Amino acid sequence: MLKLSISKTGELFAELSAARALYLPVEGGGQTTFSRYTPEADVRLDVLNTARSVKDFFLPQTEDIVAFKRAGKKISIIEDRASDEPFAVFGVRACDARSLDVMDRVFLSDPVDTFYKGRRENGVVISLACSEPAETCFCGVFGIDSAEPQGDVVASIVGDTLCWEAKTPAGEKLTETVKDVFSPASAEDEAAAEAQKKTTREIMRQLPLAGLKIDNWGSDELLEKFNSPIWGKLYQGCIGCGTCTYVCPTCQCYDIQDFDTGHGVKRFRCWDSCMYSDFTLMAHGNPRTSQLERFRQRFMHKLVYFPANNDGMFSCVGCGRCVAKCPISMNIAKVIRALEVRTNG
Ligand code: SF4
Ligand code: SF4
Repeated sequence: MLKLSISKTGELFAELSAARALYLPVEGGGQTTFSRYTPEADVRLDVLNTARSVKDFFLPQTEDIVAFKRAGKKISIIEDRASDEPFAVFGVRACDARSLDVMDRVFLSDPVDTFYKGRRENGVVISLACSEPAETCFCGVFGIDSAEPQGDVVASIVGDTLCWEAKTPAGEKLTETVKDVFSPASAEDEAAAEAQKKTTREIMRQLPLAGLKIDNWGSDELLEKFNSPIWGKLYQGCIGCGTCTYVCPTCQCYDIQDFDTGHGVKRFRCWDSCMYSDFTLMAHGNPRTSQLERFRQRFMHKLVYFPANNDGMFSCVGCGRCVAKCPISMNIAKVIRALEVRTNG
């Protein structure tokens, strides 16, 4: 393990950003978002959840895919990808770091999404262990250890010290470029880091949502959950705003649209939401015509369909963003609780 005084993180960020584009949690406009590092940036390593998740870097909100240019009767195809710039994201919390496993299952499975793949290959994830989890956090329910996140590099802040450990070849390569700002951690530093992990895990166990039970969710529960009359009560009030899907690090619905530029067409991809009435609208109609069906779909997908097709992996990481952001205070934790008890005995 390497270490650095917190007062010298500016040097680390300067070195990292000289090596590749560096994004980290920055305060601005009343919220904290992952933004590109500048020496003037108000870096907030104390904030747990950035407004939007690390998903933005691998599946951006909008991206150009291809363009068609027309000149008389000639049509040319223009591919201008912007997915190959090397970058690093610092300060990724354990929930967001795990969300990439979910996204990988979707976008790296056959047929591979080459835009996503390009970004995964060029992005280094530097995660940051949590020491003060929030009341809305429940990553532990999904087996995530917020005190010891996954990532190419795992960082933690222990007192006035930033600890740094490379975990993958990409993390080691990046560490090589910034190693001069660090010194080796001592046995005391290691012991303090371990003690902090223990404390964090104890806090996690006592959080309000820590007791959520997911053992009666998953592929075996499909019909029982799907047919539960409880959905009819839960969905009421949902205004179909899509906020929960946009802030969610694991929601991956998207649309592809063509924009007429006047002398051709630009084809782009943008996030979409299963909470919207025109999502999955096809020539024959819409498979989910009511908000109840759309609402049920979001949670069934995360808690039943996705695990059924992905070796039991749930597609929620307990980040708590939907808990904090839904305007009607409906969220996946409430759904899990409401359908906790088996309804068919
Ligand atoms: S954020 Fe809340 S109100 Fe908006 S779509 Fe999601 S569940 Fe419905
Ligand atoms: S469903 Fe909610 S808690 Fe789960 S990963 Fe998405 S935003 Fe986070």
